[in-house]
Amino acid sequence: MSEPLLPYGRQTIEDDDIAAVAEALRGDFLTTGPTVEAFEHAFAETVGARHAVACANGTAALHLSMLALDVQPGEAVIAPSITFLATANCARYVGADVVFADVDPQSGLMTPDTLAEALTRLEGRRLRAVLPVHLRGDACELPALAALAADAGAVLVEDAPHALGTTARFGNASEIIGDVRHSAMATFSFHPVKTIATGEGGMVTTNDAALAERLRVLRSHGMVRPPGADPWCYEMPEPGFNYRLPDVLCALGLSQLKKLPRFAARRRALAAAYLEALAPLAPVVRPAARPAWSEPVLHLMAVLIDFEAAGTTRRAVVEALKARGVGSQVHYIPVHRQPYYQRLYGALDLPGAEAWYARCLSLPLYPGMADGDVARVVAALKAALGL
Ligand SMILES: *Cc1c(COP(=O)(O)O)cnc(C)c1O
Repeated sequence: MSEPLLPYGRQTIEDDDIAAVAEALRGDFLTTGPTVEAFEHAFAETVGARHAVACANGTAALHLSMLALDVQPGEAVIAPSITFLATANCARYVGADVVFADVDPQSGLMTPDTLAEALTRLEGRRLRAVLPVHLRGDACELPALAALAADAGAVLVEDAPHALGTTARFGNASEIIGDVRHSAMATFSFHPVKTIATGEGGMVTTNDAALAERLRVLRSHGMVRPPGADPWCYEMPEPGFNYRLPDVLCALGLSQLKKLPRFAARRRALAAAYLEALAPLAPVVRPAARPAWSEPVLHLMAVLIDFEAAGTTRRAVVEALKARGVGSQVHYIPVHRQPYYQRLYGALDLPGAEAWYARCLSLPLYPGMADGDVARVVAALKAALGL
């Protein structure tokens, strides 16, 4: 009998999470209620930011960040090519152009070098934002990226769905991803594969009260209540969206957030077990490179595999893993290769992104994995590669 398939990632929902949702369902508010603010406060405190604004999902968080910065059609936003589609698409939602940055082929991250190179391709467009992605959960080199962005007249917006719980050490200071000390905003997602889950859900953190207020207005149709106005009165200075995260999902988020220390510790322990178990598979299999400053809570257990040296293909390995009950995924197909972006910007030469894409594979990593699962995955990988 075959064992159940281990997915590359999945949520951990426990009885008290279910009880928290049931309690919210019995309350007076299904959507805009007190749990929204409670979740926002707890989240801001967890990541060390002054403000957190909950929203419908991570993509909405990115869109709101572009709107809050007032990014205009024809302006430019820099995003790495190795990321989920949404990081680039949010610029297009406001009519801005995406300038794709290359990534380091070993870590998959945008670096100061790849950002500097992307800055040479602005072609006269005004740069408004640079969107570093803490791919897999490892932190980008934020101080250097922020300095380059500032020199170019832009701000950082960290796309941080992979990095909830990650800390980084630049010089002597330890910082938490999401505390936005180098950036205008950071965005998060609570999709089921991410570190905490609400089904759909997202968050923007910022230390700027005016940006936080703008995010709140834009997330609910652009409606404001003029001070002293009649009780039924609202005004819309500019149209926004319905990007609210309902009270009932914020109840789930609040319950999940309490478990972050436990989820993080489990992810760290599993990642450490992987590093040890994978070591004998070098040099054909190597874990993604960890930058010196990064103390990650990994979202993805990404490895780089020299399929050619093993005399096989990624497709064959993915299928062989699946036959042994091991799910895997590729994070990511370079976004600049998508038909839409090729049509817009033509073929780009981003060798770091291509090299990363040629070798990357994400293995199962989530808190609910059993202790023996890492050995099982690595044994399956070893067999699939004929090592
Ligand atoms: C998950 C994710 C998003 C989008 O989040 P959704 O909640 O699915 O909309 C954006 N960027 C990155 C890097 C992600 O991993």
